[in-house]
Amino acid sequence: MAQEQRLIFIIFGGSGDLAHRKLYPALFKLYVKGYLRQHFAVIGTARRQWSHEYFRQTVMESVVADIGDQEQIASFAQHFYYQSHDVNDAEHYIALKKLSAQLNDQYSAGNNQVFYMAVAPKFFGTVASHINSEHLLNEQGFNRLVIEKPFGRDLASAKALNDSISKTFAEDQIYRIDHYLGKEMVQALPIIRFTNPLLAAVWNNQYISNVQITLSETLGVGERAGYYETAGTLRDMIQNHALQILGLIAMDRPAEFTASAIHDQKSKLFSQLQLYSAEQVDQNFVRGQYGPDAKEYQQGYREADNVADDSNTETFVAGKILIDNDTWQGVPFYVRSGKRLRRKATRVDIVFKPEANNIFATKLAKIVRPRPVVLSLVIEPKQGIQLLLNATTPGNGLRTTLDELRFQPPAASLADSQEAYEKLLIDIVEGNQTNFTNWSEQYYTWRFIDRIRKRWDEVQPDFPNYCSNTFGPEASDQLLKKDSHEWIFGTDYLE
Ligand code: NAD
Repeated sequence: MAQEQRLIFIIFGGSGDLAHRKLYPALFKLYVKGYLRQHFAVIGTARRQWSHEYFRQTVMESVVADIGDQEQIASFAQHFYYQSHDVNDAEHYIALKKLSAQLNDQYSAGNNQVFYMAVAPKFFGTVASHINSEHLLNEQGFNRLVIEKPFGRDLASAKALNDSISKTFAEDQIYRIDHYLGKEMVQALPIIRFTNPLLAAVWNNQYISNVQITLSETLGVGERAGYYETAGTLRDMIQNHALQILGLIAMDRPAEFTASAIHDQKSKLFSQLQLYSAEQVDQNFVRGQYGPDAKEYQQGYREADNVADDSNTETFVAGKILIDNDTWQGVPFYVRSGKRLRRKATRVDIVFKPEANNIFATKLAKIVRPRPVVLSLVIEPKQGIQLLLNATTPGNGLRTTLDELRFQPPAASLADSQEAYEKLLIDIVEGNQTNFTNWSEQYYTWRFIDRIRKRWDEVQPDFPNYCSNTFGPEASDQLLKKDSHEWIFGTDYLE
């Protein structure tokens, strides 16, 4: 049984979509599993005037479809309190402080507080500075700040945001959410890399030809168009999720598995990303925007509600990233993410170099035709590991075939798998920062992304440039072809 944690959990934006769809169901799982039992309370704050009772009803509705029986849901909801709140009103923070102190006594919550920012990013700094000026931090116990994505929209705004939250919270109190770091298979990457000597031995430019990170979605922007128009795929997927996965794949082995050692290695790696000139951006990064599909069943991005008719927001990015260190010199890391693509997946395909000394090259060259070995780490939709190896099939003599070894967790264990927010909330209440991003990682990833964004803002794209239900613009395939490579996922290689 999990160890019970004592705390007051304060959610700014307690009436919002994130809180209802993700946070309350995940908190309920923590309750069912015993991380939260008697000594906790949750304060939801938002602009509307709600009673505690009404708020509890909305919380119960958000968890009703999940695990647990009605009685358990009702007793969980009794721990919820509502405080109507405007982020700019100092008086409201004083009322919040009183309520938190009262609940701390009532529940013996150990003077521990978690402040969760589930409001629009423009409010993050305001809330943090009021927490400071109205003295909401407890002197005993812990104070933790959880901050949702996006963490800024470029290096300058990320830095301004960081400066403002750092006036109130120290780095070891800040939990910056990247929910991809809560996915089970992403968390498994260090285990796969650092506990299997046969992989560790070949994890470098001597053996690896290129690495391909794909985060593809079949859906369009849907109801998130208003937000998406201000973001685009580069900010929404590459700066954070794709680069975090790249960090876990490419970082050096940490001396030990601790949050600070992992953060140090990822930061070092991100500081080694080759920064591109405008010309190099043109050569190494491709952007796209979806139009309708070939049969026009699905409309294009520009036809979606809340999208400008002449929008130049990208819904697709493919890029080649180079790392300036001895391990990865010369190995391209290709990243790709987009909406309305043909298949949904999050995966890493690691392509190995051919055996340098091909002893079959002369006499048997016609039938022994080795192809690149590929290790695929599949994060979604069905997590697992695949290895494509050259082999032969019975009755075929020495004729080579590409055989697949595949590991997929059994259905029974998948039923126990934890959703990203549940895993991240457990880390937050237990005080484990491993699966969050630190400021240094944000700094270096934005520094890298800014070069691309700046160039793209200078040059008008020719959008739309890919049909829905494809794998993005032709230029994405060309990007790899120029290097004599090809995408492994979504091409003939895997099919
Ligand atoms: P939302 O619009 O559904 O909810 C916003 C909340 O903020 C509401 O509770 C609202 O009452 C409150 N609010 C708005 N103005 C306020 C003010 N002046 N004072 C006090 N409270 C105010 O937004 P959301 O989708 O829940 O997103 C919240 C945060 O989470 C955002 O930063 C977003 O980027 C991030 N996020 C959301 C999702 C998601 O799936 N919804 C995913 C990733 C990140």
